[in-house]
Amino acid sequence: MLQDVFLDKKEQKNQARMNDLIERVCDASKTGKTLLEDAKAHDVKFLFSDSLGCVDGCYKADKNTILINEDRPDEQLLTTLVHEARHAQQKVFAYEPENSLYSAVAITRAKEADATAYQCAAAFEMRGLELDAYLDFAQLNPEIMDAYVDYAKDNKDKALCEAFKHWYDTDVTLQTYDSRVLTCLEFGDFGGNKDVKNTDLCKNIAPYMDPEFFNSKEALTISDKTEKRVRDFEEKSGKKVSTSRFYIDKGNGVVKNPENNVGLRKKISQMVQR
Ligand SMILES: [Zn+2]
Repeated sequence: MLQDVFLDKKEQKNQARMNDLIERVCDASKTGKTLLEDAKAHDVKFLFSDSLGCVDGCYKADKNTILINEDRPDEQLLTTLVHEARHAQQKVFAYEPENSLYSAVAITRAKEADATAYQCAAAFEMRGLELDAYLDFAQLNPEIMDAYVDYAKDNKDKALCEAFKHWYDTDVTLQTYDSRVLTCLEFGDFGGNKDVKNTDLCKNIAPYMDPEFFNSKEALTISDKTEKRVRDFEEKSGKKVSTSRFYIDKGNGVVKNPENNVGLRKKISQMVQR
């Protein structure tokens, strides 16, 4: 009984904190307000969680719920809410059984880059009323914020595009998300051979991007470690998993070209046509 009373009190406190955070996002950022209002219009639930570990927040599509890490300070959570609300708008899933490894990696990366670009846009707008939220994001993601700021005033789509591209520059981030994709491969969440089209990545995730970006070395490089984990999986499972569209970063500045270089093939055929 006593436990129930405490739980109730904690829930009330959390609810009040959540309402306050949502209100502050809406006051400080037009981008954030639009995303949070859209989430509310689609009945997305906003809840605090005490079991997210090192993750700031997540969007659970099956429960249409945004979970936010209650241990994080407000200044961090203001932009996290925006990031997760953007995920709630992305109606494309990396882990469909028919998806290839290429699809799962390309979709996962694009969704994160897009949610982070919107988070960056909101953080930039917050520098007036919520300076700490802006500083927190800018200190953790200096290259992304720098890239955004260059175009923020004149062309928001171009600013989003630049922030999106710079997401791919942080090796640690890429490793983290690629590793999650491989865990899902090992669990059998996907494993087909359907490659997502670049135009669909733009249409369903980031309409402000040029489809050609998804053929670039920047978008398609995986680490040697990731490639080795795929080969280990093939050996253990007896299944074939293609990495032929990826550049492989061997370390020491050596990057192996893809066996199936879609971008290069397209460039050559355009040159021949000219
Ligand atoms: Zn995310």
